[in-house]
Amino acid sequence: MAAERPGGEPAPPFIGLGDRSLSDEVFSRLIDASPDGVVVVDAHGRIVLVNLQTESMFGYGRDELVGREIELLLPERFRASHVGHRTGFTGGPRVRPMGSGLELFGRRRDGSEFPIEISLSPVPMAEGMLVSASVRDISERKQSERNVRRIQEHLLSAVESIQGAFAIFDAEDRLVLCNSSYRHMFGRHIDGEIVGRSFEEVFNAAIDGGLFDLHRPSAAQFRARCLSYHRAPSGAIDARTASGHSLRLFERRTAEGGTVTTIWDVTEDVQHEEELRQAQTIAEAASSAKSEFLASMSHELRTPLNAILGFAQLLQRDKKTPLSERHRERIDHVLKGGEHLLRLIDEILDLSRIESGRVSVSPEPVGLAEVLAEVKSTLDPMAARAEVTLAVAPLPSDLPQVVADRTRFKQILMNYGSNAVKYGRRRGTATFRAAVREGMVRVVLADDGIGIPEDKQERVFQPFHRAGQETGPIEGTGIGLAISKRLAELMGGAVGFRSTEGQGSEFWIDIPAHQPEAGALAGERQKQPAGGTSLSGPHGPRYVVVYIEDNPSNIAFMEDLIADFDRVDLVTAPTAEIGIEIVRARRPDAVIMDINLPGMSGFEATRRLREWPETRDIPVVALSAAAMVRDKAKVEGAGFYRYLTKPVKADELATVLEELLVP
Ligand code: ADP
Repeated sequence: MAAERPGGEPAPPFIGLGDRSLSDEVFSRLIDASPDGVVVVDAHGRIVLVNLQTESMFGYGRDELVGREIELLLPERFRASHVGHRTGFTGGPRVRPMGSGLELFGRRRDGSEFPIEISLSPVPMAEGMLVSASVRDISERKQSERNVRRIQEHLLSAVESIQGAFAIFDAEDRLVLCNSSYRHMFGRHIDGEIVGRSFEEVFNAAIDGGLFDLHRPSAAQFRARCLSYHRAPSGAIDARTASGHSLRLFERRTAEGGTVTTIWDVTEDVQHEEELRQAQTIAEAASSAKSEFLASMSHELRTPLNAILGFAQLLQRDKKTPLSERHRERIDHVLKGGEHLLRLIDEILDLSRIESGRVSVSPEPVGLAEVLAEVKSTLDPMAARAEVTLAVAPLPSDLPQVVADRTRFKQILMNYGSNAVKYGRRRGTATFRAAVREGMVRVVLADDGIGIPEDKQERVFQPFHRAGQETGPIEGTGIGLAISKRLAELMGGAVGFRSTEGQGSEFWIDIPAHQPEAGALAGERQKQPAGGTSLSGPHGPRYVVVYIEDNPSNIAFMEDLIADFDRVDLVTAPTAEIGIEIVRARRPDAVIMDINLPGMSGFEATRRLREWPETRDIPVVALSAAAMVRDKAKVEGAGFYRYLTKPVKADELATVLEELLVP
């Protein structure tokens, strides 16, 4: 932008350079066009010429400057020394920046100061030496430098305040920034400055310098693991230091292609986890010892009890020497007590079998209407005696079948039903209803009975808790609901209730709804028209599935099943160790993994597959006989695509494979 003359005088028209008489004007327009202030002084430091920029920068008119000493434009504190400098310059003049390394300031007419940059050029003239100073106002630059410095300070203090070790590597993998924890951890293994070193250099020095505890894994393995993680970071790497600390290292790529590394000391967390694990192992051992004990105890109790009940019945029925009325009453008590004890023992036995994982369920599609009718007809006589009406509300016409173990599912509904009768009120009702919600069928039994006091509700599903009925007249063991809950969970369902004391209760069970299309048999699927999503037929991509399984009959079964798919090749491996190597080499489209394998387990094998970048995304379908509740959390965290329980259903597996392989 052209500067305007303070007087507002119109600029002279452009004049040709050949016109000597007007060349002063040309000259003056040229120096006015300079973006910097130009001040020319003579050998005595007197200003002989200034341009427009100087006028507007310092706020003086040209006439006020010409003839004055240059020190007029300096803050007073510099004036005296400046006279010396300028005399020195005129003594040995050369083009140079002025006051290099010093902060220079100009002084405006109004006394205010501003930072400037000056370069000096000697201009020898016939009349003597002139010096031309080019002056630049660097206020804005200084301001933005200050801003950058402030942001940098914020950033550095933020980085420093990160509790863990923190470092940034650039796209060339050189360390550009780190906090003092990082420097403390790695810097002491390096000669000289750590900034500027490559990631590999920093890590190698730390490994060689003994930072890490490297018995297992070895130094070479750990080095390789760190480098491969650094190349493609995902998740975290755990390491132990030689001094016994547990570290967790996270890396993430920056948008510029660099890497941000943070390392946390997780010693306490790891110790905590270890303590929890130990506590859990102890608790599990205690619980399984308890279950074993209960199971064998119950068994032992049953034998003499059978004798007691048997002989009591014989006494009751003895026609030859009939009992007196008094004795009959007493024997009735023996029988009633004995039967109660037998029920208790049976339930304890059932519960302990379930808890120790010795009960397996065989879910299959089950029609609810049929099961409810059976439950109702079994319980009707009992309900009639108690004068409670047991009803089944009309079921929705589109209610799907449920996937459940028929006997166990019925056992749960029977338990709900008998409780509703036992804890019902005379002339009351208890009604079964059902509805679909989120892939589950919910069956509810609502009664208008005595209800459960609020402060007793929390433990209703815990074994031996009778929610206030311990001392009441209604017979029970407090185990039925505990069994119901575990059975429901074994079948992939859940239970719950709500109850108001004196008004009634609603107990419900959610059980998986049967999805007919997912359950279609592999054989049926093949009959789909060509161009469908089937894996059969000669046209279309081929797929490889690796099956890791040690049991020959299961392998034969799988080979039969896969033979139905024309475009799927099955590769089998008898152990997890061999299996994962095959997976790494072949990169199959899917892996089917048995869990209970000799040597490495299916969990461990899957964990390793999830760790390696080349196998990380290959879906793993787990097969296991252990349909046990306590495996659930482990299964959910294991990274399986799907978890199927044995005995494997052909249609289920076929559906999963199609879902996995066919895009
Ligand atoms: P029990 O053998 O005592 O019936 P359950 O495990 O079946 O054992 O039930 C536990 C407790 O829950 C019962 O003792 C009772 O207090 C309460 N309960 C269960 N169902 C009902 C119901 N429908 N109405 C009121 N209370 C119930």
